[in-house]
Amino acid sequence: MIHAATLVLVMSIGAAQPAISIAARSRSVQPGELVVLSIGAPAGAGSIHVRAFDHDVAAYRDGERTWRALVGIDLDAKPGTYRVTVDARAAQGGYDLVVEPRVFRTRRLTVNEAFVTPPPSEQARIDREAALLAGVYAAPAPERLWTAPFVRPVPHEANSAFGTRSVFNGKPRNAHGGADFLSPAGTPIHAPNAGRVVVARSLYFSGNTVIIDHGLGLFSMLAHLSAIDVHEGDVVAPGEVLGRVGATGRVTGPHLHWAVRAGTARIDPLSLLALLGTAAPTSARP
Ligand SMILES: [Zn+2]
Repeated sequence: MIHAATLVLVMSIGAAQPAISIAARSRSVQPGELVVLSIGAPAGAGSIHVRAFDHDVAAYRDGERTWRALVGIDLDAKPGTYRVTVDARAAQGGYDLVVEPRVFRTRRLTVNEAFVTPPPSEQARIDREAALLAGVYAAPAPERLWTAPFVRPVPHEANSAFGTRSVFNGKPRNAHGGADFLSPAGTPIHAPNAGRVVVARSLYFSGNTVIIDHGLGLFSMLAHLSAIDVHEGDVVAPGEVLGRVGATGRVTGPHLHWAVRAGTARIDPLSLLALLGTAAPTSARP
């Protein structure tokens, strides 16, 4: 389900100084959504500095005086007003991002108990893998590695499981930070866009996992693969085959889990596709 992106705000300040204009596009302004800012800066602004949610937001050039910045609203963000600030040498601008409430569903799943209450013997591995992922997300490529539109990695529908509060075997666990695509086992998985493969290995919860660093803080994680066809360090092109759909890790059956990070925010991959994806995504029901 792809909503039309809507322009939510245009503003300009600075009568006495060179003006910054900010236009924001998003499906909605809610937890788990991506907001794409188009920023008009005065001539001569060699770089701009964007901050949101107490973090720097990487920006990239999109024209002579135009920049873009991707602001992710984390799925656990509390509703409220958050100031986004833009600095471009002599000019400053900003606007209030008003995050509206969003109610996520709860789903109850039954999986192998070892994935709900892992045996103590697995704890060291789980801790090691959590540290690995934290390290990867803390060190994105400083340059933008994608240029083409984002594409869906498999042609099948995603269910609306993003953000769902999952209860595994009766025990509440973390919110579901990705979208699940209901593809048959063995379906080829395509790179959503260009980037560098920073993880290509088996992880305890996500099974065989590939993480692509798209640069500027944007990452794709593809999980539960039956087979991985790339190696850590590989540079992949948009659409390149990364591996096959499987059922490894904490799953109830074969599917592709695609999760996207924008800076520190976990966002719905479908909001990325709606804003920066191909206009008419293919879709086929399994
Ligand atoms: Zn999933």
